[in-house]
Amino acid sequence: MQEGEPRLQSYFSDGTYTKHLSYKPISTEESSRYPAVLTRAQSELMNYNGLGISVLEMSHRTPDFTHIITSAESLLRELLNIPENYRVLFMQGGGTGQFGAVPLNLMGLKEDRCADYIVTGTWSKKAAKEAEKYGKVNVIHPEADQYTGIPDSSSWPLNPSASYVYYCCNETVHGIEFNFIPDTNGVILVTDMSSNFLSRPVDVSKFGLIFAGAQKNVGSAGVTIVIVREDLLGKAYKECPTILNYAVQAKNNSLENTPPTYSIYIVKLVLEWLKNNGGTDTMNQLNNQKSSMIYDVINSSNGFYLCPVDEACRSRMNIPFRIGNLEGDTVLEQQFLEGASKLGMISLKGHRSVGGIRVSLYNAVTVEETQALAAYMKEFLNKHQK
Ligand SMILES: *Cc1c(COP(=O)(O)O)cnc(C)c1O
Repeated sequence: MQEGEPRLQSYFSDGTYTKHLSYKPISTEESSRYPAVLTRAQSELMNYNGLGISVLEMSHRTPDFTHIITSAESLLRELLNIPENYRVLFMQGGGTGQFGAVPLNLMGLKEDRCADYIVTGTWSKKAAKEAEKYGKVNVIHPEADQYTGIPDSSSWPLNPSASYVYYCCNETVHGIEFNFIPDTNGVILVTDMSSNFLSRPVDVSKFGLIFAGAQKNVGSAGVTIVIVREDLLGKAYKECPTILNYAVQAKNNSLENTPPTYSIYIVKLVLEWLKNNGGTDTMNQLNNQKSSMIYDVINSSNGFYLCPVDEACRSRMNIPFRIGNLEGDTVLEQQFLEGASKLGMISLKGHRSVGGIRVSLYNAVTVEETQALAAYMKEFLNKHQK
C-alpha cells in the first residue's frame, strides 16, 4: 500500500454502504488492534485449515463447513446472550427477502391475519407495502412523507388482535433509530436491525423475531440473520416458499438448500473480531463516542450543518445532514464531498432518494477515522460559513 492511498476500512468493506473514512496507512499498532477480517480471509483464501482448498470451493455438507456455521451461531448466541428458546437462521434474500418472509411466516399467527407496521422511514415503508400482499396491514404514522422522528408511542393506534407489531430499529436512509423497545401489550414484536445489529447489547427476549441483512454491520452481502422464538415456528402460509419458511430452515439448521457459504464464513470472522474487541458493550461505548463527535460539530455549527431528525431518535449508525439550509446548498455539498474524497473519505453522499450528506459509522469505523471526519467538517465550516 502506498503512503496516503485510501485504505480499505479496518475490518471490512461492505460494498453497499462502504465505510471508508480513513486516509492514513494502517500503522502496526492499528493492525494489531484490528486483526483485520480481510487479512485473515486473504490468508485463508487459497488453503482453508490446511485442506488445500478454499471455503469458496467447499461443500456445505462437509465437517469443516459445519464447524464454520455452528461457530458463527454460537458466537452470535454468546455476543447477544440469545436465550435457548430462540433459533438462529442464516438465510438468503437480504432484508428485502425478510419483508416477505415475515408476513408469510407470522401473519397467520392469529385468525385475523393482520399486523401493525410502525413506519418511520424508507425501509419500514417498504416492509409494510410488501406485507400488504399477504394480509391486512395497519400502518401507523402513514401521513408522513418527511421522516424526521418517531411519533409518540402513546398515540400509536395498536390493534390488540394483530399477529405482530413490526418496526425498523434503525432507518438507514433517514437516520432515525429507536433507543427504546416499543411496548406492544403482549403482541409479538418483530424488528429489522439490518443497519444497527450488534452495535449495542439487546434484550432478545423482548422480541418474537429480529432480522438483519449482514452487509451493513456484520459481514458481506448474501446472508441474512434471523433470530426467531421457537414457538412462533410452524404457522407459515402454505404458499410460503420453502427457502423462506423459518420452520423448514430451523429443522435443517439453515441447510435446507445451499446456503451462502462464504458470506457465513465472513460473518464468523467478524463475530470473532467483535468478541476479541470487547463485544457489544464496547461497541456501544464506541458508537456513542463516535456519533457524538459528529453530532457535536453539527449542533455547534450555528445552522451551517443541519440534521432534520429529532434529537431523541438520532441514529448513531447513520447521520444524514444538509449543508447551508434544510433543502441543502447543492454547490456547497458537492464541494464538501469532493474535499472529503481528496482526503480518502468516500461514500459520504446521502442516499439517492434524499440527497445531502450521510455519515455511516458502523462498528468497523474507528474513533480515529471519525475524528478525522469531524476535523474536516470543522475546517470546511470555518472556510465557508458566512
Ligand atoms: C439495507 C437495508 C435493507 C435492505 O437490505 P437488502 O439486503 O438490500 O434487501 C432493509 N432494511 C434496512 C434497515 C436496511 O438498512
